[in-house]
Amino acid sequence: MKHWHEECAVFGVYGDPEAGRMAYLGLYAQQHRGQESTGIVTCKNGKHIHHKGLGLVGEVFPEEELVRLKGEMGIGHCRYSTTGGNALTNTQPLTAQLFNGPVAIAHNGNVVNSDRIRDELKKSGAIFQGTNDTESFLHLIARSPKQDIIECIKEEAIRMDGAYSVVLLTQDKLVAFRDPKGFRPLSIGHRPLDDGGHSVVIASETCAFDLIGAKFVRDIEPGEIFWVDETGEHSVRFATEQKSAFCIFEHVYFSRPDSKVFGIGVYESRKEMGRYLARENPISADMVIPVPDSGVPAAIGYSEESGIPFEFGIIRNHYIGRTFIQPSQSIRSFGVKIKLNPQSELIRGKDVVIVDDSIVRGTTSRKIIALIRAAGARKVHMRIAAPPTKASCYYGVDTPETDQLIANQKSVDEICQFVGADSLAYLSMEGLMSSVQAGERGFCAACFGTPYPTELYLD
Ligand code: AMP
Repeated sequence: MKHWHEECAVFGVYGDPEAGRMAYLGLYAQQHRGQESTGIVTCKNGKHIHHKGLGLVGEVFPEEELVRLKGEMGIGHCRYSTTGGNALTNTQPLTAQLFNGPVAIAHNGNVVNSDRIRDELKKSGAIFQGTNDTESFLHLIARSPKQDIIECIKEEAIRMDGAYSVVLLTQDKLVAFRDPKGFRPLSIGHRPLDDGGHSVVIASETCAFDLIGAKFVRDIEPGEIFWVDETGEHSVRFATEQKSAFCIFEHVYFSRPDSKVFGIGVYESRKEMGRYLARENPISADMVIPVPDSGVPAAIGYSEESGIPFEFGIIRNHYIGRTFIQPSQSIRSFGVKIKLNPQSELIRGKDVVIVDDSIVRGTTSRKIIALIRAAGARKVHMRIAAPPTKASCYYGVDTPETDQLIANQKSVDEICQFVGADSLAYLSMEGLMSSVQAGERGFCAACFGTPYPTELYLD
């Protein structure tokens, strides 16, 4: 299997006079989930209108395009991927004309058996344009002998293994469905309209609802197909209940802190991670400093629990992209200096605790600690609000291959030496699971070394 690194957001809206604009705003709020490309498809009088392009939501949709995106329903997508190749071909939503009209589809997550399904489809004559697994959904639906789109999805989605939170638009329906393990989030909201009614909105993250004034209703359940048409809202399960595999990394890093993901607020869960981290790994110091922005809520929790004052000892330049997703290693390592500046007047002569959410390759922590030392810190203790990142993600988070992860190659002591800290400690798995109130609910923590919840089809 080729190892895609997809990170995405999806959005859907039904029954809204400004569907195109709502999709635009819904994607704007979810820009952190993917910055490479974006697209919106709306539907007016049974015809699909689409626009997509490479770049940020604010760049791809100028006013003249938003005016063109007429209709009362629509879907949208933003995407980041390291797959390279023809990025525009892979930009979603994907669109097609099927026997029963136009269909547009947008997908968040990674289907692990997609190569097998593609090969099978190709052998039976299917023609693919891009390299993403979303296209396979279209082909499976197109080939299904069933007439009704919901029946098609019910029948075919089950063949996909892995992570998929999908929104789909026909000429009269907005459909959303989520894989049986529920790896990626997908929520339903209602947006009040002037006439007293409401439109129905779907988003990867609830922060999209806040922006457009929609109220969170509930999550789409793992293995559920939800759809809205002129007869109202409907739901059916296409898979029998399985143990869920909610992505723990959504809470650790990926989601926005103002989102509610898998039933819990992300800001609160991150603060809780910081509190556990302080209890499990106490240290005496003059101040707790977050690595902005990823370490901020956890550092607040660490400070509250330990009683050590919280300080913004590192200031971030917000006008550059995520250092992590720059294309080459040379730019990536240079990026830390452009992005983060330690406040030497605050830090000089002090013992500091630096809190971040994760160490992946170790490059960022190493550079930050060097900067903090150069700014005059006496002791630098590193605290990570998650367990060591040990394995690559196959379900839609951009982690490097497993052999490039420092925690896969080195012990905690060796990592401490590599990053140049006086001490280094990680949050325990128990602390992490308690922070998200996992209880009986299943989470996927494969990136932290627990077994992958599906087969990986690596041959
Ligand atoms: P590294 O320099 O490779 O150790 O990267 C660690 C930094 O990357 C931390 O500050 C994390 O917040 C951040 N990070 C972790 N996972 C991701 C991801 N999937 N995408 C972007 N940044 C990430």
